[in-house]
Amino acid sequence: PSSGHLLEVSGLRVAYGAVEALKGVDLTVGKGQIVTLLGANGAGKSSTLNALVGLAAKKAGRVVFDGHDISGLAPEQIVRCGMTLTPEGRRIFPSLTVDEHLMLGGAMHKARGNIAEVREDMLERFPILKERLGQKAGSLSGGEQQMLAIARAMMSSPDLLLLDEPSLGLAPQVVDLIFDLIAGLRQRGLTILLVEQNVSLSLDIADAGYVMANGRVVLAGTAAELRNSSEIRGAYLGA
Ligand code: ATP
Repeated sequence: PSSGHLLEVSGLRVAYGAVEALKGVDLTVGKGQIVTLLGANGAGKSSTLNALVGLAAKKAGRVVFDGHDISGLAPEQIVRCGMTLTPEGRRIFPSLTVDEHLMLGGAMHKARGNIAEVREDMLERFPILKERLGQKAGSLSGGEQQMLAIARAMMSSPDLLLLDEPSLGLAPQVVDLIFDLIAGLRQRGLTILLVEQNVSLSLDIADAGYVMANGRVVLAGTAAELRNSSEIRGAYLGA
């Protein structure tokens, strides 16, 4: 689109019964960027990602993706438009093999033709998954499961990947590896909206970010602006 934004969200509201989780969220994600969503537990970050892919009860708001209004679409239609979520907690099926997970991800592909090609690309990018193709996912380490969750999402060939807390529960070296992989995916032209508790690392790889509190965006800026802001330094970076 002419704005250069791959994603434009305005007035997004989500409620779970009486709980108003999002009270009107506006944000944009530029093509090829990594944009990070920061904020305390319960601020509404996961609800934002889930609502974007049609998984949370959206009450109001407009979601424009690649110039098209996708506000009313079902999750599987949104995936076919090119937006995919790697959910918080990875949602791996312990008794399915690594390859079965990749095939599941590929089932939602935009253009069914080149699934084999995408699979080869993923196995090259995540060599540990290639070694473990026939293994049940329940036997993988936490970091390997996170890689599998990302690779599964990538099997739909998204233009925009929504990543919810990829570092959750992982050792620091493993987190570094996952972040390197995320940065590598962006280098290939993927656009990423990243929810992360690890503020320092996510500002390192992000171009821009939003800080949420109580269902609203309370601060927005480039990664450098956020890193230097007194709010971020006080609340997250221990300065
Ligand atoms: P976290 O990092 O803990 O996931 P978050 O910023 O992602 O936090 P959300 O998970 O989006 O925040 O939660 C926003 C608000 O909505 C919180 O008050 C939460 O308790 C509430 N909430 C989230 N999911 C549900 C649900 N399924 N049912 C009821 N309330 C929910």
